[in-house]
This record gives sequence, C-alpha cells and structure tokens, in this order.
Amino acid sequence: MAKEECLFCKIISGEIPAPPVYEDEQVVVIRDISPQAPHHFLVLPREHIVSALNLEERHDALVGHVFRVAARLAREQGFADSGFRIVNNCGRDGGQTVGHIHFHLLGGRSLEWPPG
Ligand code: 5GP
Ligand code: ZN
Repeated sequence: MAKEECLFCKIISGEIPAPPVYEDEQVVVIRDISPQAPHHFLVLPREHIVSALNLEERHDALVGHVFRVAARLAREQGFADSGFRIVNNCGRDGGQTVGHIHFHLLGGRSLEWPPG
C-alpha cells in the first residue's frame, strides 16, 4: 500500500486523530481501537515500512528501540511483572491487516499459546 493511503501514516502525521500514549523521534504508541486484552498498545515506527519482510540492516536499532519502548510502557502501566506479549503480524497468514509495520503490546490477562 502506498504511503499516502496508509492508515498508520495518517495517524502518525495527525491527519487522523489518535492520542499518542508515547512518542519520540522513532516511534508513536497508540491504544488499539479494538483491544484484545486489558492493555493493548500499538508501537508504530514513524517510517513507512510495510512489514517485517521490508526491514533492512539500517532498521536494526529501530527494532531494538521498539522492544525497549514496549517494555518500559509495560512497566509504567503496571503489567510488566505479570507478563506481556509483543507481537508482529506479517502478511496474510500472519494476520496483518494494516500495511505499515507495527508491534502489538498486550498484557493484563493470561494469553493463550499457541495463538489461533
Ligand atoms: P494487525 O492485524 O495488522 O496486526 O493489527 C492492526 C491493528 O490495528 C488491529 O489490532 C486493529 O484493531 C488496529 N486498528 C485498526 N484501525 C485502527 C485505528 O483507526 N486506530 C487504532 N488505534 N487502531 C486501529
Ligand atoms: Zn505507513
């Protein structure tokens, strides 16, 4: 999907309002519109990267940053100690519905494994 048509690019730019829970120069974190757990956040890299398949070596630090931001948020929101899940869905069978890479942070309940 072209960047101009991208839902998450529109959220990141503010064209579509979604109050950020956290933001910095690399990522924006919002609450998922359809939460699947008591805590469900989306960590959105500002750069329009379509999926994990499009990650390049120059993104290595960004991916590390995503995980550190998610872990810090879990601590701040008080569900780090009980555990949480960071999820990236990729492609059709992976369940990806928005073509801008994003990482789900889910917590606040016991999560099943394996996923459906
Ligand atoms: P995916 O299925 O691609 O891994 O995750 C996309 C996520 O984006 C879904 O969990 C969905 O609920 C969420 N989502 C879709 N549209 C919006 C929106 O307009 N605002 C927010 N905050 N989340 C959205
Ligand atoms: Zn995008």
